[in-house]
This record gives sequence, structure tokens and C-alpha cells, in this order.
Amino acid sequence: MENCIFCKIIRGEIPSVKVYEDDDMVIINDIAPQAKKHYLLLPKKHYANIIEMSEEDAVTLGRCLKKLSTLVDKLGLENGFRLVSNKGEDAFQTVQHLHVHILGGEKLGEKMCSFDANILDN
Ligand code: AMP
Ligand code: ZN
Repeated sequence: MENCIFCKIIRGEIPSVKVYEDDDMVIINDIAPQAKKHYLLLPKKHYANIIEMSEEDAVTLGRCLKKLSTLVDKLGLENGFRLVSNKGEDAFQTVQHLHVHILGGEKLGEKMCSFDANILDN
């Protein structure tokens, strides 16, 4: 996609710190880290989000995730990590090219979001 920032990063038109690359994906450092280690897994094929992906895209994404098991040492994630893929407004997706946040390198917050279950009646 012409104007997609992540497509530009994948094509090397915008600088980034690429920590891994293969035929399916690149993994880069997030420019505004929210954990000691904060990477973005970017499938090379452009599609907006998890709802937009085809069966074939799903297979490719599965292969990318499986590949992570061989990269944990290199990425400094030996003690664990969290994967997040935001979709749409409620989740604050800001870049419309599917990406998976990989967070770790430290003990992360126990909660994954600001929702307070105590406000529910039941
Ligand atoms: P999301 O809010 O899930 O769409 O996440 C988009 C992420 O992309 C954010 O964490 C941004 O910090 C990150 N980001 C935006 N532009 C760049 C860039 N040029 N290089 C690396 N990360 C970026
Ligand atoms: Zn794109």
C-alpha cells in the first residue's frame, strides 16, 4: 500500500530498527516503547487487521507466531512476553496494517487494560 507507514518500513523507505526479517514478516522496535522490550511483528502483506485477514493470511500469521519460539533469546524475552493486536477504535488501533505488539523484558502489569471489574453489579 502506497501510504501505509508499516509498508514503507517493510520496504525500507522509512528508517526502523529491524531485529528480525524473513519472507513473511519483519520485527521492529516500537518507536514509543511501552515496556522494556517492545517490538512490532509486521506481516509483509498489507491488510488492516485480524478481521480483514484471509485464510491464507491466517496461516502465514500462525507461521510468524510459531517462529517467535526460536527468537525469544535473541529478543531478550526468555522470561515471558505478551502479545497484543489492536483492532479498531475501542482498542486504539492507530496504524491500519495488522501488527502484533510483543511486550516483555520485565515483569508486566498484571492487568491488560484499565477496565475495573468492580463496577459491575454481578
Ligand atoms: P497501534 O496503536 O496498535 O496501532 O500501534 C501502533 C504502534 O506503532 C504504536 O505503538 C507506535 O508507537 C508504533 N509506531 C508508529 N510509527 C512507528 C515507526 N515509524 N516505527 C516504529 N513504531 C512505530
Ligand atoms: Zn501496510
